[in-house]
Amino acid sequence: MADEPKETKPGFQNPVAGFGVTFKAMFKKRLTEQYPEQQKTTAPRFHGRHQLNRHPDGLEKCIGCELCAWACPADAIYVEGADNTDEERYSPGERYGRVYQINYARCILCGLCIEACPTRALTMTNEFELADSSRANLIYTKEQLLAGLEEGMVDTPHAIYPGMDEQDYYRGLVTEAAPGTEPQVAVSKGEKPQEEGADA
Ligand code: SF4
Ligand code: SF4
Repeated sequence: MADEPKETKPGFQNPVAGFGVTFKAMFKKRLTEQYPEQQKTTAPRFHGRHQLNRHPDGLEKCIGCELCAWACPADAIYVEGADNTDEERYSPGERYGRVYQINYARCILCGLCIEACPTRALTMTNEFELADSSRANLIYTKEQLLAGLEEGMVDTPHAIYPGMDEQDYYRGLVTEAAPGTEPQVAVSKGEKPQEEGADA
């Protein structure tokens, strides 16, 4: 047996019925988050923007091994390692990350890269405001990802702590830069040292 057709309201009542839904919603608890004026606190282990960490004297923990890049399922990381020298040292051991980039147009913030990192050089912060309308701006460089300087740190490149070796850094024996530590003159980043008297 066919269903009886439902009784419909007279045509002039339809707009009023629609407003009824609106009025009911006006008195319900609002679920809208007032972002960005009011930001929600993230969970402590939230996966946000990455950070390249430093040792307590300012030397970099990254050794340019590329394990993070190999672990990344989205092919979002690009690393080029290079050799440290006594004249220009960025990390305590033999190698450092000369070029380091993360493409946030690709990254899915899964955290596999930080699990793969053997030196805990790479970790993730709670920062989540990574949107941009430019693809180029979404490629973060080493300069953007490198952690800032805390008390007792000197910016790289600079010499290893006197009397210490790479293992001592990982044993936690270096707690700050040695007295008198000075940044070295960087020559391997593509910029040539300025000759005295040369035009800027
Ligand atoms: S969080 Fe995941 S997707 Fe993003 S760079 Fe690391 S491994 Fe790749
Ligand atoms: S961040 Fe870690 S895994 Fe990636 S290149 Fe540096 S040391 Fe290797």
